[in-house]
Amino acid sequence: MAEKLHPVRGMKDLFNEDYTAHEYIISIAKSTSELYGFQGASVPILEHTGVFARTLGESSDVVSKEMYSFLDKSDDSLTMRPEFTAGIMRAFISGGMHHQLPMKLFSSGPLFRYDRPQAGRLRQFHQLNYEFLGADGVYSDAEMLMLAQHTFEALGIAGDLTLELNSLGCKESRVRYQTMLLEYFTEYENDLSEDSKRRLLKNPMRILDSKDENDKKIVATAPNIAASYSLDAHKYFDDLQNLLNIMNVYYKLNPQLVRGLDYYCHTAFEFTTDKLGAQSAIGGGGRYDGLSKIMGGPDMPAIGFALGIERIALMKHFTTTAKRPFVIVLIGDENLGHAALIAEELRAQNIPTTLEHKGKIARRMQNADKASARYVIFIGSDEVASEKYKVKDMDSGTESFMSSSEIIDLK
Ligand code: AMP
Repeated sequence: MAEKLHPVRGMKDLFNEDYTAHEYIISIAKSTSELYGFQGASVPILEHTGVFARTLGESSDVVSKEMYSFLDKSDDSLTMRPEFTAGIMRAFISGGMHHQLPMKLFSSGPLFRYDRPQAGRLRQFHQLNYEFLGADGVYSDAEMLMLAQHTFEALGIAGDLTLELNSLGCKESRVRYQTMLLEYFTEYENDLSEDSKRRLLKNPMRILDSKDENDKKIVATAPNIAASYSLDAHKYFDDLQNLLNIMNVYYKLNPQLVRGLDYYCHTAFEFTTDKLGAQSAIGGGGRYDGLSKIMGGPDMPAIGFALGIERIALMKHFTTTAKRPFVIVLIGDENLGHAALIAEELRAQNIPTTLEHKGKIARRMQNADKASARYVIFIGSDEVASEKYKVKDMDSGTESFMSSSEIIDLK
């Protein structure tokens, strides 16, 4: 049994500073998203496998290799979510929320991908996820990118991130581009990696995403996506860039950035850093106007992005200053009930309070030190009789006698 007592490969326990950093990142992200009108939403970790298989596309790496799928006791094929968007869209459609549009939804939580674990790549990881459903017009794209920038500034990591930006054009542009790529890559078919040979048949745009070194050389001289844009697609992208320029959102154009999913159109983006070695992407997203319809919902424009919490946590040492507690040290072993009542009185006033009642007095004081107590309150029989408690200010070292209401006023 003992050898089984370790976490599953690629899955991590979160304690102490790691846990606090995660919670801090989530709380900053959530409060920043509220400035842009986002509301929290939570969807199940498990979905019917089809929710992901159909929407992400059978040829995507996530679906073909990385999903945690299994049959449950009723022989239904279920999958642990590898991303948020498909589940949120499923919830939107099955919940009949059309009349609530537009909706701006913030979520965070664990995701699962059976990938090869390494620094910054886990099998269970966490994301901050933003979906703007009913997001019509170029201001919604700009607003999402401003929200991301605002969040990075609030977290103190904006200086280490680059926004890479591209447009995939409209549906017609994409079809034209797929044809151009098919022609181009077919010439090099024999030199492509096995994965890319498969992609050539199913979705040649995915070859642009290939991590294979030889594929990358072939990709370097592939046709530029801008050549396939319609007039409207050109204008949409120009308008977006103009807005970003006015808003001082810095970006780098990357014509090879394709989020290979079939339902993406127009804006696609990624946030990258050179601080994390191979795992340079902190997050990304794009416009997915086609997804709702593919899933059986209304025709609906939408845009979203996701940021990886583990990778953000690796970028900087997030120190959070927890409120220092008041620590009650019980003198002797009587009066536990009285001390417990005082502890509850303080907690009722939002004062973090612990009660040290085990071991010798020296041990109780050591624990108060370990907890970085702001004040230590000593409670023995004399204090209980007089209802005046000895209070030690742990910063100045001064001691005085106070009633419980005077102690509350110290907060
Ligand atoms: P994606 O949904 O693939 O666009 O990923 C968005 C972000 O989630 C990435 O940029 C990473 O920050 C994070 N991410 C994706 N996969 C993993 C993983 N296996 N382990 C840790 N973080 C991940």
